[in-house]
Amino acid sequence: MTDISIMDRIDPDMAWEAFERRDRNWDGRFVGAVRTTGIYCKPSCPARHPKRDNMVFFPDGETARAAGFRACKRCRPDETARDRQAVERAIALIEEAQEMPALDELAAQVGYAPHHFHRLFKRTAGVTPAAYARQLRADRLEAALHNGGSVTDAIYDAGYNAPSRAYADAAQRMGMTPSAWKNGGQGAVIRWTVAQSSLGPMLIAATERGLCRISFDEDESVLRLRFPKADIRPGDARFAELAARVVALAEQPGLADDLPMDVRGTAFQQAVWNALRTIPPGETRSYAQIAATIGRPGAVRATGSACGDNQLAILIPCHRVVRSDGGLGGYAYGLERKKALLSKERQGE
Ligand SMILES: [Zn+2]
Repeated sequence: MTDISIMDRIDPDMAWEAFERRDRNWDGRFVGAVRTTGIYCKPSCPARHPKRDNMVFFPDGETARAAGFRACKRCRPDETARDRQAVERAIALIEEAQEMPALDELAAQVGYAPHHFHRLFKRTAGVTPAAYARQLRADRLEAALHNGGSVTDAIYDAGYNAPSRAYADAAQRMGMTPSAWKNGGQGAVIRWTVAQSSLGPMLIAATERGLCRISFDEDESVLRLRFPKADIRPGDARFAELAARVVALAEQPGLADDLPMDVRGTAFQQAVWNALRTIPPGETRSYAQIAATIGRPGAVRATGSACGDNQLAILIPCHRVVRSDGGLGGYAYGLERKKALLSKERQGE
């Protein structure tokens, strides 16, 4: 999230550039004082700029005052610094709190009126306090689910006061439910078949809700490993119809698909998988592009892992993701097959 820490050391070149740009992002992080007028300002002050040689920078108003400068009446640098500190304090309160504090309460604790505080928080942190808290909770839940253990514990540990809130939040954000397949598929009936395709034998498996595994060169033993507590049965006639549609999609990648899916993953994995489904057949994207698409440009490696965790080959087209340098990257079912899939898609349509 936004780093809004107060600077204790100032790079004068950077500070001067911030003044030249009148960069509000640096307000409250340092002040610039003008030797000729004896006044100090925040970087965004609308007043005319002095000569650079006449400027000296301080981490805050207090040190500027100690050096004999007075605050500018126009840009009020000390108020801005107080505002920024209030937001920092509020963020710390949100992070410490077991439940998201009410806006009134939060504002009161940092000494502001609720409406003003809400605007101030949004301007400084880039999101509202509630959005900040939601994001924090969702990130914690994602981390906790990754660490294993009970889903219910993970939900409460992340700061939700009821599982229903976590499910609602998660469903709203990513279209997922956080129960995952961590109970080994207990209570689920999984039907499967191995179908022949021009790309080789395909394992196709589905729960009552939708497809849960599409892969190449595998048989049902994979399902027994992944879902040890599920009731695993060969496909019936209804299932054969579904499997035929999957094979048709593999043979004719441009086919519109509305096949039901029942795959579970973290919010991050779901976001990656959704992004993969937006790549048109025959086109490719890099891992970095997918990471950027889902708003996590720094998470290129995690994006690669999420592609590798894809349970539904073809349907979630992880074969359309390649390396930034144009290299083919990896594929769980062999590079030859990835190449074949892509060239089939490019010729097709
Ligand atoms: Zn000023």
